Amino acid sequence: MLSVARRWWHDFVSLFFPEVCVVCGRRLVAGEEAVCLVCDCGMPRTGFHLDADNQLYYRLICRHPLERAAAMMHYSRHSPYSSVIITAKYHGRPEIARIVGRRYAAEMAPCGFFSGVDALVPVPMHWWKKARRGYNQAEVVAEGVSEATGIPVIHDAMRAARHATQTRKDAAGRMANARRIYSVCNPALLEGKHIMLVDDVITTGATITACCEAIHKSVGNCRVSVLALAATVSG
Ligand SMILES: [Zn+2]
Repeated sequence: MLSVARRWWHDFVSLFFPEVCVVCGRRLVAGEEAVCLVCDCGMPRTGFHLDADNQLYYRLICRHPLERAAAMMHYSRHSPYSSVIITAKYHGRPEIARIVGRRYAAEMAPCGFFSGVDALVPVPMHWWKKARRGYNQAEVVAEGVSEATGIPVIHDAMRAARHATQTRKDAAGRMANARRIYSVCNPALLEGKHIMLVDDVITTGATITACCEAIHKSVGNCRVSVLALAATVSG
C-alpha cells in the first residue's frame, strides 16, 4: 500500500517537476532513471570489467599491488557524460551516483568481477567537507553497488585528513598531497578481507594509490580491488 502511495506521489510531483536525463536534458519516460535510454546506449563504456589486463589496472598496478580494477565509462571534462559525475558530486544530486553505480554493478556482476569480494570501502572524505556537501559521493556509489550485489559497505575503516583541493595540482603534487591525506583508522575491519575501493572518478590515480598504500601499511593481510564510475584515458 505504501509503495502504491509513494508511486502516486512520485507521479504527482513529476507532473510539475519532470525528471530529465542528466546527460541530454530530455524528459525521462517510465522505466528510465537519471540517464535516458538513448544516452545510456551511447555512453562511452570502457568494458574494463571484461578485460583483467585493462589500461586502468595497469595504470594502478605499476604503483601498487592490486587484484582487479574497472571503471564504467571513459571520462572527459568536455564530454556531455561528465555531467553524470559533476551533477552527482557538486549539484546536490547523490541519487544519480547511486542509480548509475547500481546499474554498472548489475552489468558487471555476471562476469565475476565481484567474485570473492568481501566488502566495499568508499574513498573517504573529510568529515567537515562531507557535512558541508551533505554526502560523500563515493559512499553513495558504493551503496548503489551494494544494492545490486549484496556486498556490504564498510564506512568507518578509513579517514581523510583535511586538505587543499586536489583539482588544481599536477600529477606529482596530487600524489604527494594524497599520501598525507588518507589513513586506516580501524584495521580490524579490513584484516583478512578482499575489499573493493570505490570512487566516483579516477583521474591521475593518486587518490586510489594513496588509499592502497595506507591499507597495506596498516593491515597485514588485505587484498584490494578498485571500482569507479569513470576514469580518464591514460596518455
Ligand atoms: Zn539523454
